[in-house]
Amino acid sequence: LLGSEFVNSPDRDFAVAAEREQLAAALAEVRTRFGQTYWPMVGGKARTGLPTLPVANPAEPGTVLGAIGLADAELADEAVKIAHTAWESWSKTPPQARARLLERLGELMEQQRPTLTAWIVYETGKPWRESDADVSEAIDFCRYYALQILKLTSQAQQRDLPGETNGYHYRSRGVAAVIAPWNFPLAILTGMSTAALAAGNTVIMKPAEQASIVAAQLMRLCEQAGFAAGVVNYLPGKGEVVGAKLVAHPRVHLIAFTGSLAVGQRILAEASVVRPGQRHLKRVIAELGGKNAIIVDSDADLDQAVVGVVQSAFSYSGQKCSACSRLIVLEGIYEAFIERLVQATRSLIVGDPAQPATYTGPVIARDACERIRGVIEQAKGRHRLVLEVDVSHLGEGYFIGPTIFADVDPQSSLAQEEIFGPVLAVLKARDFEHAIEIANGTNFALTGGLFSRSPKHIAEARARFEAGNLYINRKITAALVDRQPFGGFRLSGIGSKAGGPDYLLQFVEPVTVTENI
Ligand code: NAD
Repeated sequence: LLGSEFVNSPDRDFAVAAEREQLAAALAEVRTRFGQTYWPMVGGKARTGLPTLPVANPAEPGTVLGAIGLADAELADEAVKIAHTAWESWSKTPPQARARLLERLGELMEQQRPTLTAWIVYETGKPWRESDADVSEAIDFCRYYALQILKLTSQAQQRDLPGETNGYHYRSRGVAAVIAPWNFPLAILTGMSTAALAAGNTVIMKPAEQASIVAAQLMRLCEQAGFAAGVVNYLPGKGEVVGAKLVAHPRVHLIAFTGSLAVGQRILAEASVVRPGQRHLKRVIAELGGKNAIIVDSDADLDQAVVGVVQSAFSYSGQKCSACSRLIVLEGIYEAFIERLVQATRSLIVGDPAQPATYTGPVIARDACERIRGVIEQAKGRHRLVLEVDVSHLGEGYFIGPTIFADVDPQSSLAQEEIFGPVLAVLKARDFEHAIEIANGTNFALTGGLFSRSPKHIAEARARFEAGNLYINRKITAALVDRQPFGGFRLSGIGSKAGGPDYLLQFVEPVTVTENI
């Protein structure tokens, strides 16, 4: 493995009939498996007999996909003990052997790609291409962190002087609680877990309640790959019960969290408390929300900009931390651009994500749907509504049509708070300087974008646009592992970038050994 070059796993091309047929067959096959219960897996054993939570398809809530067994605080406690015991031998497993298991996990994902994609479609309402890309990213994380841990541990870090040797090496931290969101149900859970595993930590996966069946598939693949019992554990349950218990547990060393700002803040506060029996300070990695802006300059290629904005704002119904939710357009082209944007957005196919032509599916759940509809209704009284796609014909699913408001005040809540739905606020800028000022005018700094043909403005954006990931003349979503290491700063999170060269350093403990000889 070491020395081999990292290559991103290619997405499937659904323009090819055979690829379409394969996923359609997997969608049909997965349907026959609806109705099962997915129990927590701790120490290699399924823990049955717990209360269960039914899981519905967001596109057709009447269809129950299955149920998840809800772990409680007691089981969380047991999981930490088991993971702690498993850490003894896992931390001593050579990096090469750990990397091989991760590589094997990636291979299994590649082999079972259509099944994994189908579960993502059904459980999280993500359309075909994006669900497939979720699997690609998960595979990339397995391979990338496998290679990274070999790089990290193979580098000779020795500084010797006459009479003195100095060694520098990395040890693992211990038990990692991995607390994941639902919006990249396979990729993000896999990314945080494989990083922790590569570094020699044992893992307790606490998936989001809305994506625990996909997480159960990952657990199944980890077993198939051959991780020893207790090295990876699957603990579905309520965030405020199981997640909170893990965060507070004195034997958890590391918390890898991706999710909302509110929960992230709470985790940071709780994790800072040293509890009886705890002999370490916890490391928290927290990847949080965004309120991402794209600037469209007056000399931009508008054909390119329209496509980039539409994809950034409305793919996966705007439910990406990287999604564009603020569009800043220069005065000279403002009305013309809105006109084109509205026409292009109107042409998106909204509907059942299990159908190959669908571009925008439902939002994740009833509560999210009601919340987003509330935001839209409130905004109607305050801003100029320029597009609201009617989705009333789509039935019971949690559908919200792409919605665009114009002339939005940069200080309004529509322009400041993360909505996490298919709602775009358009803001007018007097000039480029003003555009940059608006773009930087939120508490978040996750992604950002610029469409421009002016070298001067591009250079200025590079220097002054405050975003963890800045994209020029392309969409601002779909970061690739290795090519676009991903993550933000300010209230968008603390931690170095996922899928980047510094990420694993957060999961290890560096140690210096000096010998006087
Ligand atoms: P969320 O914060 O509601 O939940 C995330 C996880 O935290 C879930 O597993 C949940 O069960 C758990 N949780 C809830 N309360 C908890 C508590 N008190 N203690 C411990 N764990 C608890 O987020 P979500 O709705 O699943 O995901 C959407 C959010 O995630 C958005 O804000 C989005 O921007 C963010 N996100 C960020 C990134 C990034 O890389 N920066 C990526 C994806 C999503």
